[in-house]
Amino acid sequence: MAEDADVIVVGGGLAGLVAATEIADAGKRVIVVDQEGEQSLGGQAFWSFGGLFLVDSPEQRRLGIKDSYDLALQDWMGSAGFDRDEDLWPRRCAEAYVAFAAGEKRGWLRAMGHRIFPVVGWAERGGYDAMSHGNSVPRFHVTWGTGPGIVEPFERRAREAQRAGRLTFKFRHRVDALVTTHGTVDGVSGVVLEPDKIERGRSSSRRVIGDFTLRAQAVVVASGGIGGNHDLVRQNWPKRLGSAPANMISGVPEHVDGRMIGITEAAGARLINRDRMWHYVEGIRNWAPIWPRHGIRILPGPSSMWFDATRRRLPSPLFPGSDTLGQLQYIMSTGHDYSWFVLTQSIIKKEFALSGSEQNPDLTGKSWMMTAKRATNKGAPAPVEAFKAHGVDFIVRDNLADLVGSMNALVDNDLLKTEDIKAQIEARDREIENAYAKDTQVLNIHNARRYIGDRLIRTAKPHRILDPAHGPLIAVKLNILTRKTLGGFETDLDSRVFGQDGKIMPGLYAAGEAAGFGGGGMHGYRSLEGTFLGGCLFSGRNAGRAAAKAVS
Ligand SMILES: Cc1cc2nc3c(=O)[nH]c(=O)nc-3n(C[C@H](O)[C@H](O)[C@H](O)COP(=O)(O)OP(=O)(O)OC[C@H]3O[C@@H](n4cnc5c(N)ncnc54)[C@H](O)[C@@H]3O)c2cc1C
Repeated sequence: MAEDADVIVVGGGLAGLVAATEIADAGKRVIVVDQEGEQSLGGQAFWSFGGLFLVDSPEQRRLGIKDSYDLALQDWMGSAGFDRDEDLWPRRCAEAYVAFAAGEKRGWLRAMGHRIFPVVGWAERGGYDAMSHGNSVPRFHVTWGTGPGIVEPFERRAREAQRAGRLTFKFRHRVDALVTTHGTVDGVSGVVLEPDKIERGRSSSRRVIGDFTLRAQAVVVASGGIGGNHDLVRQNWPKRLGSAPANMISGVPEHVDGRMIGITEAAGARLINRDRMWHYVEGIRNWAPIWPRHGIRILPGPSSMWFDATRRRLPSPLFPGSDTLGQLQYIMSTGHDYSWFVLTQSIIKKEFALSGSEQNPDLTGKSWMMTAKRATNKGAPAPVEAFKAHGVDFIVRDNLADLVGSMNALVDNDLLKTEDIKAQIEARDREIENAYAKDTQVLNIHNARRYIGDRLIRTAKPHRILDPAHGPLIAVKLNILTRKTLGGFETDLDSRVFGQDGKIMPGLYAAGEAAGFGGGGMHGYRSLEGTFLGGCLFSGRNAGRAAAKAVS
């Protein structure tokens, strides 16, 4: 049968765009198929904060951070906790990815016009020992322009290839099956969905108006994860975390539906580590939702006090920003699926960032003037103040009794007692007067402030939570927010997919979240953050280059 292209890429998210542009730039013909309309090009990456894990970058060095491949690999392995036979390729991909992040990654992006905000963030700080989870040093490099800024170079390359006739987009084409001929994956088939001009990120029509089959010599599956499909999240929920939360909100649009994972598995691909996922515990319900159950993740600084639903402070080292999986495990062990931050206006102003391009108009719009206000403004950034005013999970009060009463009212129970919360806050407040302390969260705050980036824009000056001069008091109900799929299709370093018989499936490649960002789960159990977009760049580039080489 005649081929429609040399390679078909399923998915026009970041991983698909990277793979497709590499294929086209190698002189091959490529078709990018996506179930969404043209307005959604870039997938989740468009909505992202654009945070990238880089190692020993000029930005780090300028801030006095001493980083290295060895330190980053130590952190990665301590976080991943690889412990399964099927971790062979994930581990190999992790080693290669850390080398990419310490080597070519920044220069490759920079040559395409990508730029980085100069203050490096410190995500997932851990708090255990040197060989355990967490970033020993700040490594979260925010793209100047956030999500759209990381999509832009690849969309530009794709449009150039489109104009040159080497790349074709097929929007509103939903793949329902992979086509295999004599053991080689050589096409896709599915349905054409009716055109829909709905705004990016909103759920689009699923009305079918036709069907299609496309043939090529190879297929790259870059269809994303399962975070928008709560049924699949529940089905894959790991037993080690108890039962799945009764209530979850969505950190991704509905098109992150996981359908293509089942379709690719049905064609014989080996899906591994499906029980490894990366969901956040600091989710807030969006007061202006775009997609169903739309939630936003707070990227917290270290100072908010964190209470579980039963009024206990989360144990050390589960402070804001330390260990996402540890926090999820702890919260699920309480028998409730929410927890609380209690903080002050001084803390929210400096420490709350919201993950997502639309929540950061200063960085997304590349406005130095607006961004500088993060350090100088009296209030929090406007999107945070808007959540404070309109968000259903935010409570703002002048005194603790009113605050606690409203917290109980919000969740319709009386689990929190004012006297009890007051005693815990006062005890913590007594620790704040000295530059040293025994309370480990307070120690952690002092440690954070030794890093200039945190002192400038991420960690409030230590103060008493009950000091009215820093008020009003704020409580935030934190929900569990679905986001990333850490497992995926087992691949080698060329993103070639292994079949269920353990052999490479000729013609089939997988990249991005569908491939567990490389190998079938290069993060293992935990991420150091900024590693998902990077995993799409890495596995997408490998898939594109290898597929282009393999086709005649
Ligand atoms: C709000 C937000 C903030 C984030 N912040 C960061 C960050 O700061 N740093 C970081 O590293 N990561 C971040 N991430 C995660 C990161 O953006 C994603 O993991 C990554 O973009 C996934 O890219 P992908 O190409 O694998 O999949 P996707 O972006 O999901 O793209 C997959 C595409 O495939 C299409 N598709 C699926 N099934 C089919 C089918 N059957 N037929 C046809 N088309 C199909 C979909 O429509 C979609 O366009 C964030 C994510 C979100 C949502």
